[in-house]
Amino acid sequence: MATKRDYYEVLGVQKGASDDEIKKAYRKLSKKYHPDINKEADADEKFKEVTEAYEILSDAQKRAAYDQYGHAGTDPNFGAGGFGGGFGGFSGGGGFGGFEDIFESFFGGGGGRRVNPNAPRQGDDLQYTINLSFEEAIFGVEKEIQYKREETCHTCHGNGAKPGTEPTTCHKCHGSGTINVERQTPLGRVMSRQTCDVCHGSGKEIKEPCATCHGTGHEKKTHKVKVNVPAGVENGQQMRLANQGEAGVNGGPYGDLYVVFYVEESSIFDREGSEIYYELPLNFVQAALGDEVNVPTVHGEVKLKIPAGTQTGTKFRLRGKGAPRLRGGGTGDQQVTVKLITPKNLSDSQKEALRAFAKASGHEPQEQNQEGFFDKVKDAFGGSKKK
Ligand SMILES: [Zn+2]
Ligand SMILES: [Zn+2]
Repeated sequence: MATKRDYYEVLGVQKGASDDEIKKAYRKLSKKYHPDINKEADADEKFKEVTEAYEILSDAQKRAAYDQYGHAGTDPNFGAGGFGGGFGGFSGGGGFGGFEDIFESFFGGGGGRRVNPNAPRQGDDLQYTINLSFEEAIFGVEKEIQYKREETCHTCHGNGAKPGTEPTTCHKCHGSGTINVERQTPLGRVMSRQTCDVCHGSGKEIKEPCATCHGTGHEKKTHKVKVNVPAGVENGQQMRLANQGEAGVNGGPYGDLYVVFYVEESSIFDREGSEIYYELPLNFVQAALGDEVNVPTVHGEVKLKIPAGTQTGTKFRLRGKGAPRLRGGGTGDQQVTVKLITPKNLSDSQKEALRAFAKASGHEPQEQNQEGFFDKVKDAFGGSKKK
């Protein structure tokens, strides 16, 4: 928490100064620091500081609370009549650094007293989802996207005032954006801080609003951005594009755009990071005798030697045939996993060949056709025999 200067020090008067001395000091300083007169960078801040000090010290009740409790005594949530007694033990809070912190956490925040409505604020961030094909994510692509966003009004350049005019500091809240309201409660009179009803918290008054933006300083526009999608992005990853979000407030920078990638699945490959997985179907003759086959990869077909006696589940690694690594560089591999396919719907001659193979292997299977199998089931349950 920034240390707040003592109000008497701000106005350059003694602690026991008369109302007249305070008024004179304020007149002198507010003229000196008025932003319309003083063009120094910190004049605006100084002017607000002086105004705030005068607001407190020119009000007998607020000044008494400030004298007793320091800055905490002027907190908008400070119950002048209701809570004062309970905090008697904290008198002299001005010299007790931690007091404000304790006080503010006790009442759930400082009521926005330190929030300067005129401070530049960055605009909101936006999110945009880009759909990518499996290959685009691997090799990268340039995409042009367009979306609607709030931009700085081109007519008034964001200040909301008609060209040739300027927004002025709000006459009611002197630019703070909030006003103090005193109300009567069962606990006594309570000061509360409310958003200024003249400027709605902006601290500025616009007498003649800009015709384009009606005083908001922003206008909705369709914005186009070229996005260089890097090679190797993965589903769900996001990329931040600085200042492609919404326009800022009070001259603050634009927000950012978060681009989220949605990567389509492939019907052929699986991918995990830079590794690509492929299931290679082989029949048992290829697996048993060995073969040379063409394997698809995202980089084109690759010849792969299948050694004789290859089992289902055997894995081969095709180096550098995976996806690029986003960080660290290089390219991943493609893993090929063999899946043996048992042949179906064999012709008579194929069956004959297989029986010969079985005989040569010393194992002749007890062949069953489906009809025979069902007959046996029926027998087991006492059903009638067909034949
Ligand atoms: Zn405008
Ligand atoms: Zn105001």
